[in-house]
Amino acid sequence: MRDASATQSPAPWRATRQRKAVLSALHDRPGFTSAQELHEALEADGVTIGLTTVYRTLRALDRSGRVDVVREKSGERLYRPRPTDGHRHYLLCRDCGVSTAVEADAVERWADDVAEATGFADIEHTVELTGVCVHCRVTAAPSPP
Ligand SMILES: [Zn+2]
Ligand SMILES: [Zn+2]
Repeated sequence: MRDASATQSPAPWRATRQRKAVLSALHDRPGFTSAQELHEALEADGVTIGLTTVYRTLRALDRSGRVDVVREKSGERLYRPRPTDGHRHYLLCRDCGVSTAVEADAVERWADDVAEATGFADIEHTVELTGVCVHCRVTAAPSPP
């Protein structure tokens, strides 16, 4: 017998007032935002919150799969809220855990074709790509002798 709860699921998310403030500030920003920028935006809104708390909250959001993360060349992480409605596919770095949504039209078309060809209904799929991001590739590059 299979226990569905035994499968790996994202870390649980406990919403505190500060966490909610961080998440809503993140939703108000267009595109990717650094912790520093988010902290400034929160302070401008009159929310009293420490930069450390912002960092911690963003990491918790990342662990629970609520944000997309990209890493700048400087090593700074940028965050964007992950859409909860739409079905997306992600590319994940095995070294640092950075994740980003990717286009997967071909996968969607293939799934539709399979459904049509087999007569199956309610077909679901899970496709996750993993690899080594640009930043980690640079770090892992062998040094010259
Ligand atoms: Zn990486
Ligand atoms: Zn899909």
